[in-house]
Amino acid sequence: MGRGLLLKTASRAALALAVIAAAACAGRPAPGAPLPQGADPGAMMRRGLEIAGTYRVAAITERRFTHAEFWQAVEQPLASNVFRVEDVGRSIQGRSLRTVSYGNGPVRVLLWSQMHGDEATATMALADIFRFLAEATDDPLRERLRQQLTIVFLPMLNPDGAELFQRENALGVDVNRDARRLVTPEARALKGVHDRFQPRFGFNLHDQSARTRVGTNGEQAAMALLAPAYDAARGYNAVRSDARHVAATIVQMLASEIPGRVARYDDTFNPRAFGDLMQTWGTSTVLIESGALPGDPQKQRLRAINVAAILGALDAIATNRFAAAGATPYEALAFNSGGISDLLVVGAQVVLPGRSPMLADIAINYDDPVARTGARIREVGDLQAVQAIDTIDVAGLFLHQARQALVNRGTASWLTIGSSAALDVRRGPDPGSALVRQIGDSAR
Ligand SMILES: [Zn+2]
Repeated sequence: MGRGLLLKTASRAALALAVIAAAACAGRPAPGAPLPQGADPGAMMRRGLEIAGTYRVAAITERRFTHAEFWQAVEQPLASNVFRVEDVGRSIQGRSLRTVSYGNGPVRVLLWSQMHGDEATATMALADIFRFLAEATDDPLRERLRQQLTIVFLPMLNPDGAELFQRENALGVDVNRDARRLVTPEARALKGVHDRFQPRFGFNLHDQSARTRVGTNGEQAAMALLAPAYDAARGYNAVRSDARHVAATIVQMLASEIPGRVARYDDTFNPRAFGDLMQTWGTSTVLIESGALPGDPQKQRLRAINVAAILGALDAIATNRFAAAGATPYEALAFNSGGISDLLVVGAQVVLPGRSPMLADIAINYDDPVARTGARIREVGDLQAVQAIDTIDVAGLFLHQARQALVNRGTASWLTIGSSAALDVRRGPDPGSALVRQIGDSAR
């Protein structure tokens, strides 16, 4: 309670300063058109993307960056008096875990990102949001958020994992499976912030595997949403219902920007995970998972979409409009289906040196499935049942794996699982026949 009061006082002082700052800047128009209250979801998305473009933190250009790089990149916006930055713990290796607080409104919202160290998309978005919030021009959206909400951000909760771009922390523990036992300092920091702040709403910000599609036959999932269950029966109480409404608000916004690319995350109750336990603890929590988009190797478009989705959700909470979305947009989403291959090459005759061609499909996975680099053979044979993000039909043509990508002993050659995929698609079995296209590493 004491800390809450302190926060409030600090925020009031910050608000007063911000008002002075805004007055000093009077006459400078806010970028973009103001967002009318109750705006349609498509307009909210466009406005959010405009903000993402205007306030993009230029120092962050790729999805892999360190704790030091992140805090340096946001140092300037966070110097603004509208924020209160506070150390709330240390990672295993001693990196500071920090909250950034904004606003002095009655509704408390907690957002945390990158508790899995290799899931940085939302952290990039939070940097841009900090820059937007720090701006001292008049902006109706910013004012609504400041007046109606008190927002606590906890970006990059797992900085040691981020250092190696790995999921787990430095002890090898998945912080999002430590919500019950709380053995890691990262999990304890998040739980401590939750217990002191008692947020009404929570946003659990992650990235999911790029090898995930919408439903069993849909597109690669760019985003997935979840209002986590609070118990094994997966029912809806008021807390979870509000989370579902916020998720539905986001779904409506995303529909115009990435149609067919939004999925629902599996809602099996996980008593070790933070999203689920936050719901149990009374915080209406939404899981936002960023997947992958074609042609977005560093997730910079997804970063901008995150900015828009998060700001839109915060605004819907600030204006108490979130319930208007109802449950249907969320319930209508197909579930994620995962574990599929990155690329499937079907129908070709595979040619090995000195062998007759053989009908075989080839499934390929990339070392980096987001950027689609580092192609490797995953499976060879009759792969009719294999699902893949992309399928290339080369029926009637011939696949020649580059000799250096084969295992060669004397005159014998092996095509081995896990080897680099460097495939030339040719008109005939002769390695000198006309080249149609190249697949995998030979295409680079
Ligand atoms: Zn995650």
